Amino acid sequence: MGKVLVIGAGGVSTVAVHKMASIPEVFSEIMLASRTKLKCDAIAAKIGKNRVQTAQIDADKVPVLVKLIRSYNPDIVVNVALPYQDLHIMDACLETGVAYLDTANYEPLEEAKYEYGWQWAYQERYRKAGITAILGCGFDPGVTSVYTAYAAKHHFDEMHYLDIVDCNAGDHGKPFATNFNPEINIREVTQKGKYWDNGNWVWTRPHQIHKPLNYPEIGPKESYLIYHEELESLVKNFPTLKRARFWMTFGQEYLTHLRVIQNIGMAGIEPVMFDGREIIPIQFLKAVLPDPGELGENYKGWTSIGCRIRGIKDGKERTYYIYNNCSHEAAYKETGTQAVSYTTGVPAAIGTMMYLKGIWKKPGVYNVEEFDPDPFMEQLNILGLPWNELHNVDLEV
Ligand code: NDP
Repeated sequence: MGKVLVIGAGGVSTVAVHKMASIPEVFSEIMLASRTKLKCDAIAAKIGKNRVQTAQIDADKVPVLVKLIRSYNPDIVVNVALPYQDLHIMDACLETGVAYLDTANYEPLEEAKYEYGWQWAYQERYRKAGITAILGCGFDPGVTSVYTAYAAKHHFDEMHYLDIVDCNAGDHGKPFATNFNPEINIREVTQKGKYWDNGNWVWTRPHQIHKPLNYPEIGPKESYLIYHEELESLVKNFPTLKRARFWMTFGQEYLTHLRVIQNIGMAGIEPVMFDGREIIPIQFLKAVLPDPGELGENYKGWTSIGCRIRGIKDGKERTYYIYNNCSHEAAYKETGTQAVSYTTGVPAAIGTMMYLKGIWKKPGVYNVEEFDPDPFMEQLNILGLPWNELHNVDLEV
């Protein structure tokens, strides 16, 4: 049915390509290109049967990207490299007239700040060129955004309060590791907190607001209010929301390590001189931390991510909790990666499928909640991320 060019060869890519390769009737041809071709070759070799072609690419160089896209001629480019590459890949897609999908919004390298403005600015150009860009198609953003759209479509006349809850109750046996790219992860969780409240953004100190929340099959876990990118698009696309917040669980050990890393300057993104050359502390730190893609083997336990929503249906107040629990061990058994890569890679593959089937296809730049959630939700159940619903329960938030 379609030809896909995937860029980036990390944990998320491993899962996305694995899933795509298992559905040849939709993903008839796949090319995997990344900075280090050897990593692409290793993923392709594991999948076997010559299903995946590989190539070397520096996705920060638009002319090189354009050349690769023109020579391979894909229907869609799937960006599972890093957020720094988003605009370069979007530029190359625009120049070649090819659709675009990613899992994380653009972040400038020199500033730990992410917002959709940079990518939304492409709206008119994509619309005029007749090509589709699908933004934020991982789990959060991604599935949480689709859950919200599904709740709005089927369970509420008006949604008022949204709390996205993200729990990783897994144990990888290492004293400290991040579950996805360490640089991106540490930049995200050390930022100030921020949430939407009655038409305004409210800022908090990092990890200032926290409380224990109960996660299904897992139990209570201390959960910290942090800012997360889907809040920006969800309050825009669902303007009846009075409040929107994001909670993530962290263990004490993780927070202590994080504090030390910050206190000694290792989370810094400004260059420092070392041995006569400039290095960026957080990039050096990434080089010595465990590779998130390698954590899977000894990872035990579950992730549990979902949306807790309060609003009105047929004139009555109601609550709704929709979530997925994903086992690190099962994810590893199937794809050789842990559940955080799995829960991001599977939705990226499903979003790509939605485009190739012509279901999520409209000229312009869109966040995933702007498409019909139903066919995506159906595929989540088929492709390994089944969802559960609880109605009129205590949401705790
Ligand atoms: P990894 O660090 O494991 O993989 C990133 C890959 O991108 C690496 O293979 C890297 O190459 C490649 N890359 C980096 N720079 C370039 C470049 N200039 N040109 C070509 N390739 C490049 O990251 P993850 O797999 O953990 O994460 C991938 C993406 O998914 C990130 O954007 C992350 O923010 C996002 N994400 C989204 C989530 C969601 O739920 N929405 C959750 C988790 C992650 P090399 O191998 O040479 O280093």
